[in-house]
Amino acid sequence: MLRKFLPDQHVADIFEITPETLKEKNIKGIITDLDNTLVAWNEPNATVAIKEWFNQMASNGIKVSVVSNNDRKRVKHFTTPLNRPYIHRANKPLKGAFRKSLKEMQLKKEEVVVVGDQIMTDIFGGNRAGFHTILVVPILQTDDKATKFNRKIERFILNKLEKRGWIEWQGKKN
Ligand SMILES: [Mg+2]
Repeated sequence: MLRKFLPDQHVADIFEITPETLKEKNIKGIITDLDNTLVAWNEPNATVAIKEWFNQMASNGIKVSVVSNNDRKRVKHFTTPLNRPYIHRANKPLKGAFRKSLKEMQLKKEEVVVVGDQIMTDIFGGNRAGFHTILVVPILQTDDKATKFNRKIERFILNKLEKRGWIEWQGKKN
């Protein structure tokens, strides 16, 4: 059970995920979280660096889809200028949105990674749905109300994972 919370990979930020590192693993698509993964949860717009990251992926033929538990207004506002598909109110860790996103991408599950900053939603959900999962350090050390509770459980699980020597996590809050 605990293994389902363990990411396959962890990185300091989204920019460590490059077309080169993905191509090595034959990855052709990314299902990414939004809040505290691409930008801070209270930042409405993509930064210049994030726009550049999306462009880089596109020019290398890597599909990116934004799958967020946040509401339509937030997710649509963020993704529209990037011209990328999105799913809002995704209900992660449930599998539905991951499956839908994969279908839209027309790729195989093995060709897609799931990226996010939360163990309870992004990683647990991505693992349950059978994807390679990548955990990023949350951009901000604060969260919206809905996430605060999940973070408490996350700290508990991270402690267990660390005790077993399965993960050394720099994003853990004390
Ligand atoms: Mg997030």
